Amino acid sequence: MKKYKAIFFDWDGTAVLSRKAPADAAVAAMKPLLQKGIKLVIVSGTTIENIAQGKLEELFTKEELTNLYLGLGRGAYNYAFDEEGRAYVFQDEIPNKKTLLDIHRICFEIHCHLVEKYDYETDIVFSRPNYCKIDLMVKENRGTNLFMQESELDLLKDTMKAHGIKGGLLELIELASSVGEQYGIRVAPTCDAKYLEVGVSSKSDNVNTILARLQKECGITAQECAFWGDEYVGIEPGIYGSDSFMITPETRAGDFFDVSEATGERPEGVKVLGGGVGRFLKFLKNAEC
Ligand SMILES: [Mg+2]
Repeated sequence: MKKYKAIFFDWDGTAVLSRKAPADAAVAAMKPLLQKGIKLVIVSGTTIENIAQGKLEELFTKEELTNLYLGLGRGAYNYAFDEEGRAYVFQDEIPNKKTLLDIHRICFEIHCHLVEKYDYETDIVFSRPNYCKIDLMVKENRGTNLFMQESELDLLKDTMKAHGIKGGLLELIELASSVGEQYGIRVAPTCDAKYLEVGVSSKSDNVNTILARLQKECGITAQECAFWGDEYVGIEPGIYGSDSFMITPETRAGDFFDVSEATGERPEGVKVLGGGVGRFLKFLKNAEC
């Protein structure tokens, strides 16, 4: 496989099996690359406390950390590490309070619409700094495996159909966009098989921000980058998983790899390798320049 100067990758389901699982194998695979100056970028919807139990600073040396970046919280936070090995946010996309409350209202309206029109129950998680999660499968618990399971897709589609939602997930995405417009907000709704997430930023903002920094500081171009994830697969025609948001006009010239074996369509250009976490870590081990 081609040698890359920067490797962007999802965390849950790509580098580790679950966020509670030990990160030892991922850390061991990352270290030699960081030592060689290859930039590693963790791109995840979660927050820094949930990456390697918040212990990244202890697991790597200060020198290694200078080549590590984090794009977290669905576009909210972009981290680098300082000379002392401490993580700091170098750019954020946190909406102000008014916008955040409007996002809450938008999600509540989506919830009301689904109950009124379809008797479809949802729960909403409000406690995120820049988006809400609307749980579309309130009776399904993912446990500690927070990434998408293939069977969930069918379950969700069946549940939506049973409630008469004929337009499927696309209908929900469009609903989110049109309610957002009423508030003057261009929302970035995303969907996996359990959650409809509504906010103003996405993984696209993380990869664009961090790639721009790498370009500026090290002259790294998108062609020299790989982007790995486990959620590229299409849930419906035209609606792809959260990792597909790493594909942007700025990053498009890079190489995109999916370690999921879920059947379905991927955005153009994504190479489906399957093999899960093991496949990604094997790539890291062989990626030394
Ligand atoms: Mg994932």
